[in-house]
Amino acid sequence: MRKKIIAGNWKMNKTPSEAVELAKMLKEYVDTDKADVVFCVPAIDIIPVGEVIKGSNIALGAENMYFEESGAYTGEISPAMLTDAGVKYVILGHSERRQYFAETDETVNKKVKKALEHGLTPIMCCGETLEQREQGITIDFVRTQIKRGLYGISAEDVVKVVIAYEPIWAIGTGKTATSDEAEEVCGAIRAVIGEVWGQDAAEKIRIQYGGSVNAKNAAELFAMKDIDGGLVGGASLKEEFKDIVNY
Ligand code: PEP
Repeated sequence: MRKKIIAGNWKMNKTPSEAVELAKMLKEYVDTDKADVVFCVPAIDIIPVGEVIKGSNIALGAENMYFEESGAYTGEISPAMLTDAGVKYVILGHSERRQYFAETDETVNKKVKKALEHGLTPIMCCGETLEQREQGITIDFVRTQIKRGLYGISAEDVVKVVIAYEPIWAIGTGKTATSDEAEEVCGAIRAVIGEVWGQDAAEKIRIQYGGSVNAKNAAELFAMKDIDGGLVGGASLKEEFKDIVNY
């Protein structure tokens, strides 16, 4: 039985003082051991939010990380910086990073490997554009993203990765994939994990759905066979997040 994982992606929102307020408010409602709950916060908010959630069941997550250990990479954050600050999860390959910051399957692959080396749990994102969906190539495209993003990772390690299926047309648009649409792709992701890494890995790996998850649609989405929780953007910044976690 896979444990559900519900992660909030705060994106580029909340100054450190605002982040402390939000984390204090949410902590009251979402500190549970029934699901893994993660706050993925902007880099500057990691330390203060970490202080707020210390001693709770809520885990700290980052929104990105670089694939080198240290050095002349101005503006980047290393895996050791994250682990030293108490971070357990890191979102990698979010579509916004692919779209605006030239992230590719190759850089995502390097980051996933580096995160695993440091004991961080990568939340690796994948998902098609509206154009790709309309062309009927969603499954092919997502299968390729999974194979390339996880290339060279052992079956033992691949199960430590969390995959977030996020159709780009559903992110921040209020347009959610239906539970059947989401399940179809999450099932296909589990199938490709089985083909490449074996049936045992396919059964163990956790796959989230992301894209306008809210208090109304969470229960139906999370009830699907291959959906093990959600990556939540907009609604993770509101009290509504409690209804998603406690769906
Ligand atoms: C996201 O940021 O990963 C996301 C799914 O955003 P939203 O829930 O706002 O669509």
